[in-house]
Order: sequence, then structure tokens, then C-alpha cells
Amino acid sequence: MPKVLIAGGAGFIGTNLTEYLLNKGWEVFSIDNFSTGKPENIKRFMHDPNFHFEEMDICKDVPHHKFDYIINLASPASPKKYLSLPVETMMVNSVGVMNLLNLADEYKARFLLASTSEVYGDPTLHPQPETYWGNVNPVGPRSVYDEGKRFAEAITMAYHRYNGTDVRIARIFNTYGPYMDVEDGRIIPNFAYQALTGKPITIYGDGSQTRSFCYVSDMVEGLYLLLIKDNLDGEVINLGNPDERSVKEVADLICDILNVEKNYKYLPLPQDDPKRRKPDITKAKTLLGWYPKVKFEDGLRRTLKWYSEIIKNSYAR
Ligand code: UDP
Repeated sequence: MPKVLIAGGAGFIGTNLTEYLLNKGWEVFSIDNFSTGKPENIKRFMHDPNFHFEEMDICKDVPHHKFDYIINLASPASPKKYLSLPVETMMVNSVGVMNLLNLADEYKARFLLASTSEVYGDPTLHPQPETYWGNVNPVGPRSVYDEGKRFAEAITMAYHRYNGTDVRIARIFNTYGPYMDVEDGRIIPNFAYQALTGKPITIYGDGSQTRSFCYVSDMVEGLYLLLIKDNLDGEVINLGNPDERSVKEVADLICDILNVEKNYKYLPLPQDDPKRRKPDITKAKTLLGWYPKVKFEDGLRRTLKWYSEIIKNSYAR
């Protein structure tokens, strides 16, 4: 069975991907420095003989053994977290990525970089195909993440071009589902927590800005296909669900599903908050045969159920 290293294995997507690969019988080596990942996410894998975990910061060290695949999910990813960890975010996407690329090079492992739709910034082209170069403010607050990920993509392609490293880049659009930290700060955990605990829902701006939300099981499947398919060396592929919704629509839907009052508190829009975002997934459909299957309403129901358990358990403690 393949041996895979997952950096950022205790984070939201890392936890879901670990479960998916263990279910396929893969041997998973997970590392995380817990800057945003959570020890409780991976607790339930600890008894699986195919699961190995080490607390490790990829800026300082990486495990020195042979892997078939290396997946890099290590980075703060929510605006709240990367704005509170600005330098760490830039370092993990530069030095951290370089350390993993050196490891991939040394043992001829295939490397998958988790990049982001944030490389498109506040896009002037809609929906966004991979050929779009983006509209990023290089000195704005979000630049620590946007430019960090753009650097991560550039160094990944440099290893591919100059060293022949087998690399693939996933540009991940807004994803949601179980194991996204309730305090992560992103729209779905914020709104879920607020609606489930009777607090006003915080809408930034007038709520007309849009995002397109992908349920995590679809995302994990897309990442898996991008990892295992041959002849995709050096490819950059958008992964996300093109089902575009406004922020206000998301708030309305969550209140409707939970059957709670629409109690909204309007707050200022954060600086450089993208106005619209929607992936063009033609390339993923063509090269991976992948498209998202979980409807937003269904994914939201599952996610709200998960958050309600989490909140119940944390109050019970
Ligand atoms: N947002 C909001 N209220 C919140 C959290 C987020 O209105 O409590 C908005 C935010 O301004 C953005 C969208 O929801 O327009 C998605 O934000 P998120 O932080 O989830 O991810 P982003 O796509 O901006 O990285």
C-alpha cells in the first residue's frame, strides 16, 4: 500500500483526507505543529496501525524517510487565523514548502500542494479559470496568505522545471464540513455557532458578496484523484463547487434549516474582501473526471449536525 506524508494532517482538510486514505488502506504519516490544527481531530486515528503522527513544524524539520506521496496542507487558511499569524503564514508557505520539496526530490516522491482561490485575489474575471493571473493587493492585509500561496506555487513549479520533481497544485475554493474548527472565523463555522447558540449572525458588509461552497467529502475526492492520476505532472487545477451563493443567502439558509429567527448584525466589510468568487472547474472535469456531488443544502445539514454535537459536548464538559 502507498505511504503518504500529510503536512498539516490535524487541520480541517488534513483530518478528512487522513480518514479517506486510511479507509483505502494507505499508510498515513501525519505531521502538524498545531498552530491551527487540533490534537482532538486526530485522536480517533491513533489506534490504527497504519496511522503515525509526529508534532513537527515543517519550517524546522521534516521526517526523513521515503514516501510515495507528499501532500502539503500545512498553513493557516482562514482570514482570522492568517491575519493573527502573518509571519508564520509566509514562512510555512515558503521555507516550509521548500523543505517538503527537498524531501520529495530526495526520495522521488510525488508532491501535491494545496493552494487556494485566494491567488486570484478580488477577481476581475468571473468565474475564475486556472489561466487567470489574479488581482491581488501585494501590500494589503490578506497578502500574507495570497502572496504566501503565490510564492508556494512559484517554488513548486521551480522544482518541477529545474529538478524534474513530480508536482501537482490544487487551487482549493471555499470548503466546509466537519472538523473545521468552530473558532476558525470563516463564514460557515461562525454562522453555525451563532445560529445554534442564539447569537446574532455577523454579516460583513451588506452580505451581497459571493462565495461558492464545496463540501469536504467532494474536496477530498478531488485531491485524491489529483494525487494518484498519472501524467498530471506540473498541472494546476481548481477544486471547488461552482454553486455560487451570497453571504446573506448563506445566513438565510442556515436559519431556515435550523428553524431559528433571522437575527442579523451588520459589521464593516474587511479590507480587500473579494466581491465574487466561483471556480471554473472545466479542467478538473476533463483531467480528473471530477465534479462535486453534494448539494449545498445537504452538506449544510450534515455540517450543522456536526457543529451542534461539538457545541453540546463542549458545554457538557
Ligand atoms: N463573512 C461574514 N461574516 C462572518 C464571516 C465571514 O459576512 O462572520 C463573509 C466574509 O466577509 C466573506 C465571506 O463571508 O465575504 C467568506 O468569508 P470566509 O472568511 O469564510 O472566507 P474567504 O473566502 O473570505 O477566505
